[in-house]
Amino acid sequence: MTTILLWFRNDLRIHDQAILTEALAHHPDIIIPVYCFDDRHFQTTSFGFPKTGKFRAKFLIESVTDLRNSLQKIGNNLIIRQGIPENIISDIAIQYKVDLVCFSQEATAEEINVEKQLTKKLTQANIKVKSIWQSTLYHPSELPYKITEIPDLFTNFRKQIEQKSIVSNCLKTIKKLPPILDIKIGEIPRLQELGLEDYKPSSKSVLNLQGGETEGIKRLTDYFWQKDCLKDYKKTRNGMLGSDYSSKFSPWLALGCLSPRYIYEEVKKYEAERVKNDSTYWLIFELLWRDFFRFTAVKYGNKIFHISGLQNLSLPWQENWSIFETWCEGQTGYPLIDANMRELKSTGFMSNRGRQNVASFLTKNLGINWQMGAQWFESLLIDYDVCSNWGNWNYTAGIGNDARGFRYFNIPKQSKDYDYHGDYLRHWLPEISAIRGEKIHEPWKLSSQEQKELNISLGVTYPRPIVDFFKSIKHQEKVYLTHIS
Ligand SMILES: Cc1cc2nc3c(=O)[nH]c(=O)nc-3n(C[C@H](O)[C@H](O)[C@H](O)COP(=O)(O)OP(=O)(O)OC[C@H]3O[C@@H](n4cnc5c(N)ncnc54)[C@H](O)[C@@H]3O)c2cc1C
Repeated sequence: MTTILLWFRNDLRIHDQAILTEALAHHPDIIIPVYCFDDRHFQTTSFGFPKTGKFRAKFLIESVTDLRNSLQKIGNNLIIRQGIPENIISDIAIQYKVDLVCFSQEATAEEINVEKQLTKKLTQANIKVKSIWQSTLYHPSELPYKITEIPDLFTNFRKQIEQKSIVSNCLKTIKKLPPILDIKIGEIPRLQELGLEDYKPSSKSVLNLQGGETEGIKRLTDYFWQKDCLKDYKKTRNGMLGSDYSSKFSPWLALGCLSPRYIYEEVKKYEAERVKNDSTYWLIFELLWRDFFRFTAVKYGNKIFHISGLQNLSLPWQENWSIFETWCEGQTGYPLIDANMRELKSTGFMSNRGRQNVASFLTKNLGINWQMGAQWFESLLIDYDVCSNWGNWNYTAGIGNDARGFRYFNIPKQSKDYDYHGDYLRHWLPEISAIRGEKIHEPWKLSSQEQKELNISLGVTYPRPIVDFFKSIKHQEKVYLTHIS
């Protein structure tokens, strides 16, 4: 009699699922799938924000519920527990005389530490352990270099992969599983039981993002096949308003509800059946960024979390909470920043264009400790992914993989370039939505007469800019240059 325990983590799916495939290769009589809500994920970050905010927690609950339904449909179930996974998984494994425990490997310290603790406990109890890497498009063994030797520049990383590596096929979706044991199944917690408030999704959201593999596949089908958006993705991907300017696959990818290889195969199918162009290529290009940050995190370990980042660059970051809060609340007086920060706070989502701009503003104009921004994102983002978040923050703060020195985003210009008519700004900033034309991007240019006519009072109904744009850039650049030399 062989009994296998599957510990699900950020791999909440049954398609292209390596731990299920691995388990079945042992022809088990019993399979015990378990998901454990980790108490530590619901504590606070070092700057005091909830580590998992309500948006992601809801998405997680939905994803776990969907996985349970899928496992039930193929003859099994999903055990739910809440607590410390390394203790809970090992206790179940020992109590039910499990032969093998399988789980997916993660890339960063906290998660790896949990794996180590669990492996130690299981090994002491003579239970075998198999951990499998399956979060990236390319498996580490398919890379043209060792992870410890991956290029530090994305372009070099990408070019070599594109020339030398091949993406493996998806694993077959399992249609039938052996039964589970007679064991207490456990309830999926509600938001309140995780210490978070219930809420209604904002009607202003770009998309009602619902967790789970079923919804993830539905989104892909809709975006690629129903709405035929993939063919224009490269042109639209920098948008900020609406459901379809970009794929919105990120929340499902972050929890493993969608496998990157599944997306890749669907892109190839689309190229064969509809059209192959820059846009179809570009979606895969973006998935490579995701791989890049994940492998970079493995290469550099805890450095991605350190204030001096991958470059070991010691800069005098400020921790001015009143300035930081104006950024968090969308009250900086820069409409592009404020609209994006309000979107994040109300919905848990922000476009890639928005993320780059707000991160640049916090670090290159305000000089605020980038870790505070990264933790604010960690708390709120529905698609929070430890490697993509901390890797991108490193990059934008100028202490990561970007070799271009002090690079900043010109916020008013970006606003005009990517929201020409100001529709996105009007969507999120009702107090200035009456402004017609270009001044929506720079309301500080309104004359007193115009303010009166529009019923806007700068400094009262909408803030004046918290800093002078170019003066603050110049100041931060000087600080940067003094510290790198
Ligand atoms: C400061 C900052 C923080 C970020 N934090 C996260 C995060 O926590 N989680 C996260 O998934 N992404 C993060 N990103 C990357 C990017 O903004 C999101 O992946 C993207 O906006 C998600 O929307 P989408 O799925 O519609 O993207 P699309 O444009 O449709 O891209 C498709 C997929 O490619 C991947 N991708 C695209 N751009 C990037 C990128 N720059 N880095 C890594 N992967 C990318 C994502 O998996 C995305 O779902 C961050 C970017 C910045 C600048």
